[in-house]
Amino acid sequence: MPKVEDIISEDRINGILEETKNPSQARVSEILRKASEKRGLDLEDVGYLLNTKDPGLTRKMFDTASRIKKEIYGERLVFFAPLYISSYCINDCVYCGFHRGNTKPRKRLTLEEIRGQVKILEDMGHKRLLVESGEDPDENTIYYGAEAIKTIYSTRSGTGEIRRVNVNVAATTVENYKKLKAVGIGTYQLFQETYHRETYEMLHDGPKADYERQLFAHDRAFEAGIDDVGLGVLFGLYDHRFEVLALVSHARYLDRKLGVGPHTFSVPRWQPADTVEWEKAPYPVSEDELLKIIAILRMAVPYTGMIISTRERPEIRARAFEIGISQTSAASRASPAGYGKAEELSQFSLSDHRSVDDVLKGILEQGLLPSFCTACYRKGRTGAAFMDLAKPGDIQELCRPNAILTFKEYLEDYASPEVRELGQKILDKCLNQITDGNVRKEAEARLERIKKGERDLFF
Ligand code: SAM
Ligand code: SF4
Repeated sequence: MPKVEDIISEDRINGILEETKNPSQARVSEILRKASEKRGLDLEDVGYLLNTKDPGLTRKMFDTASRIKKEIYGERLVFFAPLYISSYCINDCVYCGFHRGNTKPRKRLTLEEIRGQVKILEDMGHKRLLVESGEDPDENTIYYGAEAIKTIYSTRSGTGEIRRVNVNVAATTVENYKKLKAVGIGTYQLFQETYHRETYEMLHDGPKADYERQLFAHDRAFEAGIDDVGLGVLFGLYDHRFEVLALVSHARYLDRKLGVGPHTFSVPRWQPADTVEWEKAPYPVSEDELLKIIAILRMAVPYTGMIISTRERPEIRARAFEIGISQTSAASRASPAGYGKAEELSQFSLSDHRSVDDVLKGILEQGLLPSFCTACYRKGRTGAAFMDLAKPGDIQELCRPNAILTFKEYLEDYASPEVRELGQKILDKCLNQITDGNVRKEAEARLERIKKGERDLFF
């Protein structure tokens, strides 16, 4: 088993934050030049960027991150929706609406209810879900979780189907991770919430209060054969500069130890939640700071995908898509049975309430290409196999055509007339950007097949 110091050293991070105060313009420019090479940044470099306050230099950071984002991820943006299967929880995390101390009634979806929720999500056009739940070994057993996932994969509504289920559930044992792996999960995401141990222990009560159980969970998931893992921090709990350095440090550790870095970073900010004393947010992170965090992470760990949720307002999401985000949710609900009817107890409040179609319209107007692609996972391009393609930049050649094919399905099956028209224009433009003539021809042929009713074609 690893030691905490293998992953993060608080002393080192505090030292870096102290030594990198008030960076010169020359130093920041040099770091941005290094970032442009897309080989990542050292912790010291990240410290300097985090300590940069100059608005002109911050704009340059956004420009550099934006270029890196375009070069690695192109114009595509991958969509998913969360599906909360249970709000039962035995932990008392002070920031969360599902915390034990909240006496509101809880809900765990039956498999029939899961089928109903999934059909609603499929009818919106979703192909990827993120399963979420509280921690309760009696109510939310691993068997229940596994059955829930099998149910999701087997539910169809018309031509709709869910092709990748990612999971964000409590840290658990290697044995239990194996059970999740056996039912075909994609990425296993788990957020450290805060890497600052004292703060972590202060904010948690229950099994999750064990800092090391949370910190080493990704190692255990990997041991169980899950090689796509996602990291995250809940911003607002502690100094965001410390958290960003810790996140990069954790990513470096996974890369060193497992030969593959994290598949994704998530960057949620603490939002108001039922019976949570919001005013007490100890380290509020502004929207501008959140954007800076996203830009710095994009430069520091260029090949790790980054996720923003509907916790954020549409305007901030749009900016974030430009400077580093590669995956996002749309039309989400943060409660079990939240889709299609009055909400049950919600985990926290959301700030983007638009439909999938409206979110897609917004990103098309930005010139971005929506993707519902699940090809890598289904072709076995996960973990190191994925990174081997991602690092030399070869993944673009697969992502663009796959985004085109899956978005075409959306346009055929779910789009409003307005999105269909706008979407077809972006799709044609992106098709012309496929550099390999053979791939372009094959993509054109497959687009014809989709028009005639075939589905689920991918490279
Ligand atoms: N219950 C599991 C756990 O705690 O690891 C699964 C994750 S929970 C369903 C999803 C995430 O929501 C948490 O990891 C936390 O970061 C985030 N979250 C909790 N309360 C929040 C709030 N008030 N605002 C924003 N995000 C919140
Ligand atoms: Fe439970 Fe997770 Fe919420 Fe903590 S964050 S109270 S573990 S659902």
